[in-house]
Amino acid sequence: MTIESILPVPELFSARRILCFQPHYDDNDIGAAGILTQLAQNGAEIFYVTATDDLMGVVDASLSNQNAAELLKRDQFAAGKIVGVKEQYWCGHPDAGEYSYFDLRRDFLKFIRFIRPDFVFAPDAWLTYEGHRDHIQTGLAAAEAVMFAGLKKIASADPEVDAAYEEHEIVGIALYFTREPNYIADISSTWEKKIQAVRCYEAQFTPDGMEQLVFALDMKSRQVAAGQSFLRGEPLKVLHPSALHCGI
Ligand SMILES: [Zn+2]
Repeated sequence: MTIESILPVPELFSARRILCFQPHYDDNDIGAAGILTQLAQNGAEIFYVTATDDLMGVVDASLSNQNAAELLKRDQFAAGKIVGVKEQYWCGHPDAGEYSYFDLRRDFLKFIRFIRPDFVFAPDAWLTYEGHRDHIQTGLAAAEAVMFAGLKKIASADPEVDAAYEEHEIVGIALYFTREPNYIADISSTWEKKIQAVRCYEAQFTPDGMEQLVFALDMKSRQVAAGQSFLRGEPLKVLHPSALHCGI
């Protein structure tokens, strides 16, 4: 018996407000822009929260931090326009640096209590062989923030947000960058938009690096759709929040 047979997989297309946590500026779009574009077209409001300042990934090392940050935001807004992102927020923790996991979780709790999403997206913290700590911490902090949103004794980063918060229902969490999908989203209709969005991230990729990324995404999208009735897919682990604890 699987978790999914006890707790049905939440219906992504029922989502009205979707909060997407990502470690770096481009992760939501690389992992899930195909399905997120469809959900925006379906009428959902999409919000992005970026955990780190992403400054280590900027290709041109001669740029000041301020100029690099401006370019990252330029790219992110251009991509967000294509996907249909309503609002972007940043936590500003140092990319690949030293910051407290609990500070990150407090930030995520604040955004969940403030934005009140019915669906949350994040990278899969349990991806085998994931070596980037920002990804593991972001995925785990998102999962914990989903579980703990209603527990007001667990403080967020903003006491005013906590004081005003009344418990609401989070229907599901969708984990991208996963090796254990239980849902393959058909992204055939939004594949072109996904690649357009990914190509906006010019500050973080050399032209060759971008071509390699697009090639890998192209292969992967076809590979995960094998045996399905569509050509291109995005793999997701879509879970009811109760499935995030103890496996019962
Ligand atoms: Zn990343």
